[in-house]
Amino acid sequence: MSEQKSVAIVGSTGSVGTQSIQVIADDQENYRVTALAAGRSVDQLVSQALAIQPDLVAISDEALLGQVRDALPSSIEVVGGTGGLIECAQRADVTINGVVGFAGLPVTLACLEAGKRLALANKESLIAAGPVVQQARKTPGAELVPVDSEHAAIHQCLRANDVGKRVSKIQVTASGGPFRGMSSEELARVTIAEALNHPTWSMGPKITIDSSTLMNKGLEVIEANELFGKPAGDSGFDLTLDDIEVVVHPQSVVHSMVTYSDGSTIAQLSMPDMRLPIAYALSFPDRFPVAYGAIDWTSLGRLDFEGPDRESFPCLDLAYAAARTGGTAPAWLSAANEVAVEAFLKEKIRWVDIAEVNSAVLSMHDGGTGDTLAGVLDGDQLARRRAEEILQEQSFMRNS
Ligand code: MG
Repeated sequence: MSEQKSVAIVGSTGSVGTQSIQVIADDQENYRVTALAAGRSVDQLVSQALAIQPDLVAISDEALLGQVRDALPSSIEVVGGTGGLIECAQRADVTINGVVGFAGLPVTLACLEAGKRLALANKESLIAAGPVVQQARKTPGAELVPVDSEHAAIHQCLRANDVGKRVSKIQVTASGGPFRGMSSEELARVTIAEALNHPTWSMGPKITIDSSTLMNKGLEVIEANELFGKPAGDSGFDLTLDDIEVVVHPQSVVHSMVTYSDGSTIAQLSMPDMRLPIAYALSFPDRFPVAYGAIDWTSLGRLDFEGPDRESFPCLDLAYAAARTGGTAPAWLSAANEVAVEAFLKEKIRWVDIAEVNSAVLSMHDGGTGDTLAGVLDGDQLARRRAEEILQEQSFMRNS
């Protein structure tokens, strides 16, 4: 009998958060949710807390603290603000960070610096603050297990080699999103509803838009470089950014691959279901007792692969460029992209303008190194201001 692990779910009302609750409900013998945290969704957070009865509940928006407190019994401690999210991450054995965007960074750092396991679904914190997060990863006891399905796949494939130093390539797979194969003319006219209609994965709106532009894949290349490339102290793999390739695979069954020096490729396959990487990040190095996304091989049919269309989807190469520049360049790109995607979702700009805004902001990067948290926060703020300024320009106004 293993000891029951306490789990904090930060971003509990989002897509990863709600699926994490389902996963833990499937193995209550080994896991208990002790903390729930959300940004602003009071009603959903309260109903989750009433059902689960955690020890601690946090709401990021402090103006809503009283509302949450009034709705919950006194047996549940309620805290607010970024400090509240941090408290959740410090107390549990495992923290699932499912916060959307840059706001997830304090949770990532708090969990790692407390020497706990971080099940990381928030890719932006790692991308924007690579050097700072790498430092926090060195804390004794700190463990980072990726929840992003591609990186969970790579994490598994890398363990097919005990030596760990004969990896020659990582192939990150991409569904290609809803606009795969479209011409630039067609792309100039796509709508929000079309961009939100992902062919294989059901996810939150921000990441779904990022999938449609291939920005998500670009950010995942940076993420893979941070997790498994040279800077990662635990891997020892002699990989550079160019060894991380993107392969379009429309069925989203192969979640990523690792190719070894002898030409052998190891892939991880399962039907698209985020509960599997969530369960993996909880149970690693053990395997979760419940199966999610198991393949029925008799009905699977074909699996297709092709190269990405780098011209129609320029966000992919913007990410490679940002990673090559290093320092706060990935933070700038990620921040610009958050602003641009929000503007697109509010119908202020067209889909094709997202890449334009990202490219313009990245070209203004000031050479910041991002070695300190203050430097990262400054870079993030500056990039957001630049993006807002660019959005004000007449050329990006929707009705111009
Ligand atoms: Mg992913």
